[in-house]
Amino acid sequence: MTGRLFCRRCGEGFPLTAPRWCCDCGGLLDIDFVPAIPKSGFPAGPQSLWRYFAALPLDPDTVPVTLGEGMTPMEEWISPAGKHVRVKMDHIQPTGSFKDRGAAVMISRLRSLNIPAVVEDSSGNAGAAVAAYCARGGLACTIYVPASAPVAKISQIRASGARVVSVDGPREAAAVAVRKAAATVYYAGHCVDPFFIQGTKTVAYEVAEQLGWRSPQTMVAPLGNGTLVLGIIRGFDELVSAGMVGKMPRIVAFQSRACNPLVRAFSQQDTDLFVAETTIADGIAVSRPVLGDRILSEIRRVGGEIRDVSEEAIHAAWKHWAALGLSVEPTTAVALAGFDQIKTGDDTVVVATGHGLKRSR
Ligand SMILES: [Zn+2]
Repeated sequence: MTGRLFCRRCGEGFPLTAPRWCCDCGGLLDIDFVPAIPKSGFPAGPQSLWRYFAALPLDPDTVPVTLGEGMTPMEEWISPAGKHVRVKMDHIQPTGSFKDRGAAVMISRLRSLNIPAVVEDSSGNAGAAVAAYCARGGLACTIYVPASAPVAKISQIRASGARVVSVDGPREAAAVAVRKAAATVYYAGHCVDPFFIQGTKTVAYEVAEQLGWRSPQTMVAPLGNGTLVLGIIRGFDELVSAGMVGKMPRIVAFQSRACNPLVRAFSQQDTDLFVAETTIADGIAVSRPVLGDRILSEIRRVGGEIRDVSEEAIHAAWKHWAALGLSVEPTTAVALAGFDQIKTGDDTVVVATGHGLKRSR
């Protein structure tokens, strides 16, 4: 395993095994690492994301903390508008969301570094995932949640044995509180720990493998904090560099029009931060994305798009797809609604991000 952590602000480098999530200058870290992708494809490994272990920047002796995440099915559907689409079924991960990919890789690394306890802030799915993998790995876990977080998701976090600290005020108040706690306990933040995106990138590997090692024409996903979209881009970048697939797919990310700071910034209508409004898509109700600049530059770099859909369209898609048998949370319906509004051929994959049983209203 060769590679290093580096600061995106000042460039300072650290070993991959450094137990840190930010630089001394306060900048966030990223990972320089060329994955070991065998030209002949990955050997038949476990039916989980751990089949791509060689593509992860982990010490070879790392014992995965696993709940069987990854290698989710990809099913074909005809959308409510009559379009052919493949749905990557990441809503049927162990805790019911794609966040299990990131949590599994991040917590596996932290356990290998003998980190005994972590704190994290989340309004739902990431907290549930981190709590479950900490339970599986034997790490103590405290999740800071905004008091407005969906009750069903808070119950799920608590059920895994995590301590839940409810923070009054907007979502950012929980982020401020967790950073204070991070002075003494490791901050396993899904938006800041670069190993989280190393986990989410495996969705790209799986889609490519399930298509016979090629890229789909288009990948569609919901966009809030960007941990999925950045993972998709990272994964396909690595597969293109390794010669495993021919090209980066067209990336189309969707937000709710009721909370669309990245849509506004992308089209340069508005460079100010946007105040979150109420959206049924609670998983992407993010008014101030920590990785906002990076999301914008990465999506621009690959020629992707950021678009939005109305609350009415989200609600309608959610109902229509449920009637087709796909039980997803409203955040996923953002991408499904968006898919039906764009011009695409028959070779599009929409990522289903969270399970319908998580819905709280
Ligand atoms: Zn720095």
